Amino acid sequence: MLHIVFHPKYLDYSFGPGHPFWPERAEVFLKRLKETTLPYKLHKPQRAKDKDILLAHAGEYLNRVKYLAQSGGALSIDTPVDAGVLEAAYFSVGGTILATELALGGKRVMNLLGGLHHAGISDSSGFCIFNDHAIAIRKLQKEKKIKTAFVFDVDVHAGQGTQEIFYDDPTVFTLSIHQDPHTLYPGTGFPKQEGEGKGKGFNRNIILNPGAGEIQFLAAVEEGLRLHKKFNPDLTVLVLGADTFKEDPLANIKLELETYEKLGEKLKGIEHCCTLCAGGYSRSVPEIWIQFLRSWGTEDKKY
Ligand SMILES: [Zn+2]
Repeated sequence: MLHIVFHPKYLDYSFGPGHPFWPERAEVFLKRLKETTLPYKLHKPQRAKDKDILLAHAGEYLNRVKYLAQSGGALSIDTPVDAGVLEAAYFSVGGTILATELALGGKRVMNLLGGLHHAGISDSSGFCIFNDHAIAIRKLQKEKKIKTAFVFDVDVHAGQGTQEIFYDDPTVFTLSIHQDPHTLYPGTGFPKQEGEGKGKGFNRNIILNPGAGEIQFLAAVEEGLRLHKKFNPDLTVLVLGADTFKEDPLANIKLELETYEKLGEKLKGIEHCCTLCAGGYSRSVPEIWIQFLRSWGTEDKKY
């Protein structure tokens, strides 16, 4: 049984006409999921609290976001904030908190708005406001439900916000597989960035050249799995970007639809893992999630 986390407020995670992020992708996906034979259950998350947000973000950042949402403004040129977006961001965090709790309970779970990995401690861009997974991991650690976590990020963009938050933290391994940041936003997330202090060795960036396809991508995933096995975390969050697809308008990696089923097959053996639906800007995003679930969303199997 697959568990899907979704709140109608997710549809307000919209940055205006012409912006590449289209929140209706969740609705299209749910309609498409109904047509499949995959058994699933829907879960509605709660709104996250400010004290949760502050587990990963600075107080002045939260104040700034709230101010911008009221006054009308933008965190960056690509990330305007209004009251609707901010509310949706709170529910996205609540969704990832719920998804991680369900994953710890052994459920196979996917949050339809999460993996907002460009949100850093006190600044953000890239259509991200709150770093939902960093917050959820910190919350579970604080509640002593987990000691360690692994962020397995396969979005085409580097997860530099998550990297920043856990850069000196050896309890959270952050792995990001992405297109060479010399050629793509956010312009950071290089192999030499390995963490610092006690966190040295617990951050890894694996780079794909523009034009790379399934072979290079799945080889990077294999490398990630080796790191994951060695670290052996209590919880894993998969940041599933659909922007590695060949038709994505914002990036240059050339995955086929079938590649996502192969990806799910490789990752399905990871226990206590939730999937967060991150970037993806082509009209194929809902179908990409379905392809992934064809393997990942079915019965457990050890890798
Ligand atoms: Zn992305």
